[in-house]
Amino acid sequence: MAETINRQILLVSRPEGEPSAANFKLVETPLPALREGQVLVRNHYLSLDPYMRGRMSEGKSYAEPQPLNQVMIGGTVGEVVDSRSEQFRPGDKVVGMGGWQEYAVVDAGQRGLLRKVDTTHVPLSAYLGAVGMPGVTAWYGLVRIIDPQAGQTIVVSSASGAVGGAVGQLAKARGCRAIGIAGGEEKCRYVQEELGFDACIDYKQHKDAAALAAALRAAAPDGIHGHFENVGGQVLDAVLSEIKPHGRIAVCGMISGYNGEPIPMKNPQLILTQRLKLQGFIVGEHMQDWPEALKELGSLVAAGKLKYRESVADGLAQAPEAFLGLLKGRNFGKQLVKLV
Ligand code: NDP
Repeated sequence: MAETINRQILLVSRPEGEPSAANFKLVETPLPALREGQVLVRNHYLSLDPYMRGRMSEGKSYAEPQPLNQVMIGGTVGEVVDSRSEQFRPGDKVVGMGGWQEYAVVDAGQRGLLRKVDTTHVPLSAYLGAVGMPGVTAWYGLVRIIDPQAGQTIVVSSASGAVGGAVGQLAKARGCRAIGIAGGEEKCRYVQEELGFDACIDYKQHKDAAALAAALRAAAPDGIHGHFENVGGQVLDAVLSEIKPHGRIAVCGMISGYNGEPIPMKNPQLILTQRLKLQGFIVGEHMQDWPEALKELGSLVAAGKLKYRESVADGLAQAPEAFLGLLKGRNFGKQLVKLV
């Protein structure tokens, strides 16, 4: 095969506060020849996810920091184009952690690095969203932590996003009332009209936690049984003031603090007085639940019963800007970068 150039994006400096395009660098590297047991994957879509912001910093977190001057870590879907492994053949569609680059050389023998997927009924890109890590995140927090019962009211923040959109629809499928919180009228309309939530509150229309709490009270006059937190800060304060005794909160994300802003909790005593269960989780630590979650998510997507939306940036060079947009809410649904 003639020498193929791989375009890659490296993290070259660590952001202080908000990241910028200057933290990244696009480079061109020749692809190495495959060794025995390796496969070459042409990445079709790259997934951009909020957790990447945490990895860009050196501070203590649940995951190792992304090393400088190396290809940014990231989930990808693509097609095997060359293989020196018995497990994969050219043409196989796969999901893996290919990173911010056009091609990935993967050791096929290493368990869990690359998984074949069936695109007969589920589009390839959905394996990075509703039928992938974000979908399983929604499923785990809702089913395993909130444990919703029919008739209960469930609230989710970042409701139009990859995780939030799935949370509300999975709650509806279990006979619950679903209330979303999202930024902007267009996102809220989509959450209600397309995703079928019972209500959606535009947090940008409410100047503080008290005003947001009043809007929640109007949408859920009998209180909130379960909450799926993706944002933190004011949003969490508002929900806490409206949650019922013995309410359950799955703490999935705190995006309002990812650039290092302090996000103090106003009334932590409510955890005690309302006897709440508040549990943080990292989806990658619950691999035993993935098969059950993916089975439900895959069937719902194939049947058209789990809807999702994608924001697709075109070409690897757009990845940094698209990532910066994700941290500002410029994405509308799952943020992807199309590479082919
Ligand atoms: P989304 O598709 O929801 O995109 C991020 C959204 O966050 C934006 O569109 C924006 O929505 C909202 N947002 C951004 N900045 C702020 C801010 N300062 N204040 C309030 N909202 C903000 O992303 P995902 O669905 O991929 O992820 C959702 C959450 O789930 C994130 O917090 C992420 O870290 C977390 N997560 C956790 C996992 C785990 O294992 N615990 C695994 C995967 C995701 P809007 O315009 O509505 O404000």
